[in-house]
Amino acid sequence: MKLEHYIDGAHVPSASGATFHAIEPATNQVSLTVAAGEAGDVDAAVRAARKAFTDGPWPRMNGEQRAVILRGIAHAVESRDEMIAEVECADTGLPITQARGQARRAAQNFRFFADVISDLGEDVYRVGAAQLNYVVRKPVGVAGLITPWNTPFMLETWKLAPALAAGCPVVLKPAEWSPLSASLLPQIMEEAGLPTGVFNLVHGIGETAGAALVAHPDVPVISFTGETTTGQTIMRSAAAHLKTLSMELGGKSPLVVFEDADLERALDAAVFGVFSLNGERCTASSRVLVERSRYAEFVNRLAERAAKVRVGPPADPATELGALIHPEHYERVMGYVRSGVEEGARLVAGGSRPEGLPDGNFLSATVFADVTAGMRIFQEEIFGPVVCVTPFDGEAEAIELANATQYGLAAYVWTNDLRRAHRLAHSIEAGMLWINSQNVRDLRTPFGGIKSSGVGREGGRHSIDLFTEPHIVHVATEDLPVPRFGVG
Ligand code: NAD
Repeated sequence: MKLEHYIDGAHVPSASGATFHAIEPATNQVSLTVAAGEAGDVDAAVRAARKAFTDGPWPRMNGEQRAVILRGIAHAVESRDEMIAEVECADTGLPITQARGQARRAAQNFRFFADVISDLGEDVYRVGAAQLNYVVRKPVGVAGLITPWNTPFMLETWKLAPALAAGCPVVLKPAEWSPLSASLLPQIMEEAGLPTGVFNLVHGIGETAGAALVAHPDVPVISFTGETTTGQTIMRSAAAHLKTLSMELGGKSPLVVFEDADLERALDAAVFGVFSLNGERCTASSRVLVERSRYAEFVNRLAERAAKVRVGPPADPATELGALIHPEHYERVMGYVRSGVEEGARLVAGGSRPEGLPDGNFLSATVFADVTAGMRIFQEEIFGPVVCVTPFDGEAEAIELANATQYGLAAYVWTNDLRRAHRLAHSIEAGMLWINSQNVRDLRTPFGGIKSSGVGREGGRHSIDLFTEPHIVHVATEDLPVPRFGVG
């Protein structure tokens, strides 16, 4: 199959004719030939979006009018959600049952931001009877959206929905390892009646197409999700034009289990938190810290559960853990497994290719125990089905270990001591923290990380803030005294 760009309402190849190949993770066979966007293709897409911004109806519609179209997009997603899930499953190696959940969430993203934009008020500040100050929220301009290969369709829509709701035309650059589901978007947008030129899609390699989008002077806002090092490169490039940035980056999130926790539920959350979505999840609970009195028991039970996680073909509904995205990524994850063993961590489950799956990027659910803070597997984001378990003594050490990496995306605390739960919530360095819960999202809340996990927040009003500029208008409603200069 061949994939093209979508620019100004037309499917087009790269101007140079350049292409790249994408592969299916379950077989590592080439499945797609994809247009490889270069600076000229990005420029054409930005020019189309810019025209839609300066001359088109989209930024001029009111929130409710845009919401009607966003709800149409949600409907168009829902009407083909099984197909989206199948495409995503084949293209990314995600288990089909989990890909279905991601497709449903994509539709929800559009419905949610339709509601946000219809309800959005603008602030008014009155200074007695003398002055009325009101805020007008204007769409920033052309939004550049750059997305990663994990849950690609869901993450693309998580950025598209608020950007469109805010009135911004967009240029989307999907990840080169998972380009297929994004190619369903043009038809979805057309079906919903989105005006031409508002949605543009340029495929391509990050360092070429992504970099050109970031460097383009007519793209004032970039919303990026991906690796921390890529985020740093983007921030450096974006500085030339002082762009507004949202950076959703890597993580190494701790799940802290205290002696008094409901161990059964904490165990369920630990297993789900790191092995769902193939462990390719930014908020994965990839470091489990357990109070020493329950440590041996927890490690044994986690290893038992990991051994039973069903690894298999992504399209099989019984599969819990599918194929990792790409052989290069698989090698990287296996490199971490080797590093864990070399550094003296105790491998208690997985660590190798499961039997009966000779092709594709399959790895058994992997558990390392006795991991210490100095080890690479404790410090670095593995982004696969590998969890590190570390014992701690007391609350202070739990906090110290939880905070001992460069990341600060998510954290999970399991304890039945209410006061301790809140103390931890305030001491752990993370943008998002769950108490006695797995990662359950409320789309209104700020999503994002601190430290090397990111800059800025998305979700609810925070996403709308990203894609709009507040303009303040000051109106004198009485004659305010004006200091008189130059009257002698
Ligand atoms: P990546 O940084 O390699 O790529 C992400 C996107 O950036 C891709 O579209 C890529 O083509 C593009 N890109 C690469 N180099 C670029 C450049 N120089 N200029 C512009 N664009 C460029 O990330 P990935 O490997 O696709 O995704 C995995 C990473 O994403 C993990 O670190 C994960 O934690 C992170 N992630 C974070 C969140 C979050 O919300 N914090 C969510 C999902 C994934």
